[in-house]
Amino acid sequence: MNLLDGKIVSEHLLNQVSQNIQKFSKERPPHLAIIMIGNHPASETYVNAKIKTCEKYGIKGSLYHFPETISEKKLLQEIQILNEYSEIDGIIVQLPLPKHISENQVIETISPHKDVDGFHPVNIGRMSKNLTSLLPATPGGILELLKYYQIETVGKHCVVIGRSNIVGTPMSILMSRNAYPGNCTVTLCHTKTKNLDFFTKNADIIIIAAGQPELLKGNMVKEGVVVIDVGIHRVTDNTKKTGFRLTGDVEFDSVAPKCSYITPVPGGVGPMTIAVLLKNTCQVWLQKFQNQ
Ligand code: NAD
Repeated sequence: MNLLDGKIVSEHLLNQVSQNIQKFSKERPPHLAIIMIGNHPASETYVNAKIKTCEKYGIKGSLYHFPETISEKKLLQEIQILNEYSEIDGIIVQLPLPKHISENQVIETISPHKDVDGFHPVNIGRMSKNLTSLLPATPGGILELLKYYQIETVGKHCVVIGRSNIVGTPMSILMSRNAYPGNCTVTLCHTKTKNLDFFTKNADIIIIAAGQPELLKGNMVKEGVVVIDVGIHRVTDNTKKTGFRLTGDVEFDSVAPKCSYITPVPGGVGPMTIAVLLKNTCQVWLQKFQNQ
């Protein structure tokens, strides 16, 4: 069993990002605008981590923090202002949003050219057609992991578990594209799938983003499988000083011995997501100079 180490691969990717930035060191640095609404503690942690990583690799990260009570109309106006501000390359909105604000409206208001989370329908559509686009960060990060470890994907059966717009659905499209990584026969499983283990037992590659702690167990997979675990959960563990431990959607101890490759949690997919976000921001910024 080999680990797909997201810390190593994300650092590799981020070093490439900072080398690209240094090539144009006379220009202003890339600039990422992060919009946060309210004071959701997990969102604050994610946003702080993004800003810190931006600073470490030479990207300017600006936080636009609005109160929980901001109206949808006002938020959309604020996004329009950032769309028009030429010195901002990327815009992301930290999810989840308060109930009175439509996630779809917000995503569709961000200019597709600045949509570095890759959630806009234009980017999803271009991705589906195998055209150049800003890839959604988590699926994009999984592709980078597979590439770095040169995992064979052509003709493999890839089972994706979870059909969210941000992970499972785009992942299933990417793995079926005529590209590397890709060219898989893909099965997309979700809550209405019957006999999940029938599919997982026949999978060469499993990518799980179900949001269910330790859903995938050792008796559900075949020998030699590649497993990518997107889930991240805090579960009670009285043997730990903190009283909890982090786990994924995979029961690591029973699944890992059967795998050729598996991502750990933490330290697998998580660091890749943030690395692709910065890579996308740098991609938008670089295009400005390359088009001059
Ligand atoms: P979500 O919670 O929006 O949706 C979960 C999906 O899984 C749904 O489509 C559902 O149909 C499917 N599902 C749930 N239970 C299932 C079951 N028993 N069998 C089959 N399918 C099932 O998903 P999300 O936003 O993609 O997040 C999934 C997990 O990944 C969460 O734990 C989240 O915290 C984590 N996540 C991690 C990162 C990262 O960077 N590491 C990024 C995004 C999400």
